Amino acid sequence: MSRQTQAIIHADAIISNFSRLTSLAVSSKTMAVIKADAYGHGAVNVAHILKDHASCFAVALLEEARLLRNNNITAPIVVLEGPHQAQECAQAKHLNCILVVHNRQQLQWLKQLPKAVRPTVWLKVDSGMHRLGFACHEVGAIVNEFGEFFDNNTVLVTHLACADDVDNAFTAQQIAAFADVVRQTQFPVSIANSPATVGWPQSHGDWNRIGLAMFGSEPLSRGGSSVALAPAMTLGASVIAVRKVKKGESVGYGQNWYAPRDSIIATVGIGYADGYPRHCPNGTPVWVNGLRVPLVGRVSMDMITIDVTEVKKIACGDAVELWGANICIDEIAKWAGTISYELMTRVSPRVPRIVV
Ligand code: PLP
Repeated sequence: MSRQTQAIIHADAIISNFSRLTSLAVSSKTMAVIKADAYGHGAVNVAHILKDHASCFAVALLEEARLLRNNNITAPIVVLEGPHQAQECAQAKHLNCILVVHNRQQLQWLKQLPKAVRPTVWLKVDSGMHRLGFACHEVGAIVNEFGEFFDNNTVLVTHLACADDVDNAFTAQQIAAFADVVRQTQFPVSIANSPATVGWPQSHGDWNRIGLAMFGSEPLSRGGSSVALAPAMTLGASVIAVRKVKKGESVGYGQNWYAPRDSIIATVGIGYADGYPRHCPNGTPVWVNGLRVPLVGRVSMDMITIDVTEVKKIACGDAVELWGANICIDEIAKWAGTISYELMTRVSPRVPRIVV
């Protein structure tokens, strides 16, 4: 029998999170951002789960859109990074995708295509993040020069750098800079990601783009979102060995944990090759048989070790939750010195995703 390491994907949580988030912005339409394999939840799974709920999906890359089309997803798909190569422009039309164009070269590629095979184009505006997009002052000239690409279907897109921090004035500056561009062009707009949808109602546009919060993670860095979100993933594994160690004995690579008392140690079949973060230190909580217990010793490639001395009964095969309803992924991200986005997307392909 293979080990019981798996990521359970809770369809009802994804649907209820999505509908709660969309109800925060009733005048906006919402696209479900399912790039990076739907943040590790399985893009095809999530697109099917949301088939009757989301009217549009967003991915980063055209390959991600192709996978969805090959799996019978017919809703519009927005490709957030636009084309990476000239040939992707015609392929985008064939796949019925919308390209978010962010530089002149992409527009030149599109210009070389016969009109009949040009996909719908949205325009990315750099309102201050300085990652992708046309500078605000360039947009008017771009729209004039490449006017043939822009019509009633065009949307101006921008991305916020600090929306997770509701006290950060930079978000208001970005929104104001973007509003100036919008006034000139009169195109519909898309600004808000998850934190902005929750924390910055003034950023709600014609289209909001929601990823993280749909998967149940808190989008605001200091917490306190007004919307109740349910975890969409339970990362689980099982106990594969149990042993006693004496006070003063060490556990694991590098001897970075010594038993402070006679202890019972369970070895669990999940490690950093599965996406459990190697940076989790001693003390990181793990859930087993109704109790939070600490990780002890270094995370190995395929295993972790936990101190189950306080657990009444423990045996091989017992289920362990690494994150889910009992251990919040945001808490594990803090222990690991990272963010939940990274934890979700790092769950590796060898962990089966089971949709329930
Ligand atoms: N829009 C763009 C351009 C993004 O890059 C992302 C994610 O990184 C999103 C929307 C979704 O953001 P979130 O997961 O915070 O909702």
